[in-house]
Amino acid sequence: MNKEHKSNHFTQIIVGSGAAGLTAAIYSARSGLDPVVFEGSMPGGQLTTTTEVENFPGFEKGILGPELMDEMKKQALRFGARFLQKEVEKADFSTGSLAVASGDESYTADSVIIATGARPRFLGMENEQRFIGRGVSTCATCDAFFYRGKKVVVIGGGDSAMEESSYISKFASSVLLVHRRDQLRASRIMQDRILNNPKITVAWSTVVVDIIGSEEKGVEAVKLKNVKTGELTRESTDGFFLAIGHIPNTEVFKGQLEMDEQGYLLVKQGTATSVPGAFAAGDVVDHRYRQAITAAGMGCMASLDAEKHLADAESRK
Ligand code: NAP
Repeated sequence: MNKEHKSNHFTQIIVGSGAAGLTAAIYSARSGLDPVVFEGSMPGGQLTTTTEVENFPGFEKGILGPELMDEMKKQALRFGARFLQKEVEKADFSTGSLAVASGDESYTADSVIIATGARPRFLGMENEQRFIGRGVSTCATCDAFFYRGKKVVVIGGGDSAMEESSYISKFASSVLLVHRRDQLRASRIMQDRILNNPKITVAWSTVVVDIIGSEEKGVEAVKLKNVKTGELTRESTDGFFLAIGHIPNTEVFKGQLEMDEQGYLLVKQGTATSVPGAFAAGDVVDHRYRQAITAAGMGCMASLDAEKHLADAESRK
C-alpha cells in the first residue's frame, strides 16, 4: 500500500457506520480526533434493515431503525466527523503503521476503530436470496409481525433460534423449528421454553433441501430431508426464518488482527485489538449481546480508548 500519500493520513479512521461506528464518531469528533468514517457497503449497518426499535433508551415511543442511524450520523456530522462512501477492502497493520485501502486509494491513520459488524449466516440455497423479503427473513424482531395467523418455519438449534421461534409464536398460528441434529445447542432454559410452547413443533435431525414459492406469492413451502432416514417431505409455510448464527465482517483483517475461531476480533483491556492503535467495537467483537445499545456503548469505549492511546503516544514524543 502506498504510505507516501500524506494527504491520505488521518488522526483516526473508523471502519463501519452502524451503531458502534457512529457512536465512536460522535465521541471522537467531540474530542477533536477528526475522525473519518468509511461507511462501507451498508451505511447505517444492520439497524437499517429493521423497522421499529423499541428498546433503545431515550425513545419512549420507539424509533425506526433507519431513522435512529440517520440521527446518529447527523449528530456525528454536527461535531465535524467526516464520512467517505467507501468500503475498506485491504488492511495492513504489519509494519507498525495502520494502513487501509479502498479501490486504488490507500490511507493511514494514528488510530483505527473497527466497527464492521456481522452479517446473518445463510444456508446457501439459491431460493433464499430469491425470496428474501418475500417470506425469507433473518430477523424475527423485524418481521414476525407480518406473520400474524400464518405458518412459519425457523431454522437453527441455538439460543437465537429459540428466542426467534418463541417471539414468532406470539404472532404466527404455528412454528416448525427445523434442526439438523437430535439435540439443541441452546441453553436449557431457552430449550424448555420452546419444548413447552404448544405452538412450536421441532423437526429433529432435519435439513432444508429447498424453498418452494412463486414470484407472486413468495414462499409457499419448504422441502425437508430427515438426515437419519433420508425421507423427503414437503411442508407448507408462509415464512422461512434463518437463525443459524452470524458471520463477523473481518475477512479484510485476517492475518492482521487476532481473532477467535469464528473470526470475531479479540479485544483486551476494553476495546484494544492485538495491534497498538487499533480498537474494535460492536458485533465484530460481540457475538453474545448483539444489541444496538451494547454496540453503541462499545463504540464509545473504543473512542475513549483510542483517545488515551493517542495522548500517551503524544506524551512519549
Ligand atoms: P449458535 O449458538 O452458533 O447456533 C447456531 C445454530 O445454527 C446451531 O444450532 C447450529 O447447528 C445451526 N446451524 C449452523 N449452521 C447451520 C447450517 N448450515 N445448517 C443448519 N443448521 C445450522 O448461534 P446463535 O444461536 O445465533 O447464538 C450466538 C451466540 O449468542 C451464542 O453464544 C448464544 O448463546 C448467544 N445468544 C444468547 C441469547 C440469550 O441468552 N438470550 C440469545 C441469542 C443468542 P448445530 O447445533 O448442529 O451446530
